[in-house]
Amino acid sequence: MSVTLEGNMLVTGSNRGIGLELVKQLAERTGAEAHIYASCREPEGTRAEALRELSTQHPGKITIIKLDTSDEDSICAAVRAVNEEIGAGGLNLLINNAAINKPARPAPLSATGKKDMMEVYETNVVGPFLLAKMFLPLLQRAAERFSPEDHEGDMMSCRRSAIINISTVISSVKKCPETFSMAPMYPYRTSKTALNMLTRCQAEDFRKHNILVTAIHPGWVCTDMGGEQAPLAAQDSVLGLLSVMSSLSNKDSGMFIDWQGNSIPW
Ligand code: NDP
Repeated sequence: MSVTLEGNMLVTGSNRGIGLELVKQLAERTGAEAHIYASCREPEGTRAEALRELSTQHPGKITIIKLDTSDEDSICAAVRAVNEEIGAGGLNLLINNAAINKPARPAPLSATGKKDMMEVYETNVVGPFLLAKMFLPLLQRAAERFSPEDHEGDMMSCRRSAIINISTVISSVKKCPETFSMAPMYPYRTSKTALNMLTRCQAEDFRKHNILVTAIHPGWVCTDMGGEQAPLAAQDSVLGLLSVMSSLSNKDSGMFIDWQGNSIPW
């Protein structure tokens, strides 16, 4: 599987799990011109040790950015920090990966309250909404720099300018009858279904700027969120995710697919 991503990329929630692996493989598999903005809530804290170590292994290629996706002020500050460093190239790829699942799984209805619903919606939907809105000028800047010869007919790609919203197969309304009983997570499921609609709206809205927007399910992955019984290693999920991202074009904007490129019903 080939990874042909380049330019400036930003990953949210990159201090552990799939986000950390995304930054690792992006750093390893992209050329010298690529730059990765790896964002997390506490860059100086113990939870970001692995990310700091990773950035020292790739001098000059990774910038760690402080970003809490549930906090609008933090998003503003992060956008400012990236803007100051990024230069004329703009932002080629925004990966909205950070998310929470509350309360701790499995979560029956009796253990789920308003606070869980609101917190999960704020992180999983409002965060990606604000990030895309505030990074739009930098995404547009990247999209405008591409010349027609660069994209052989397809106007949109992750190399040009794109937003990837990391979703989940259990957000699928159609698949709910077969997936609900094994994962009865009201806040998480409904938030990711809203993220899918956000993806669809952004794809329509940003098509005029040649910015691609796609929702991708990473598989059931062995992370803190996915749990130890998950069949897929983060390494394999991310290899698939990056390969799929590398292949996306016009027809994939506004779509919902998995880490192997298969389409998922809404
Ligand atoms: P983890 O729980 O392992 O990691 C979540 C990451 O998101 C952490 O880095 C965490 O940072 C960060 N995060 C949470 N809230 C915020 C916030 N407010 N601001 C910034 N960062 C935040 O999850 P995964 O790596 O497994 O999941 C990554 C993505 O993949 C998520 O979108 C998830 O919904 C999706 N997904 C995962 C599946 C799986 O099986 N693992 C299946 C389907 C989808 P911190 O350390 O500060 O908490």
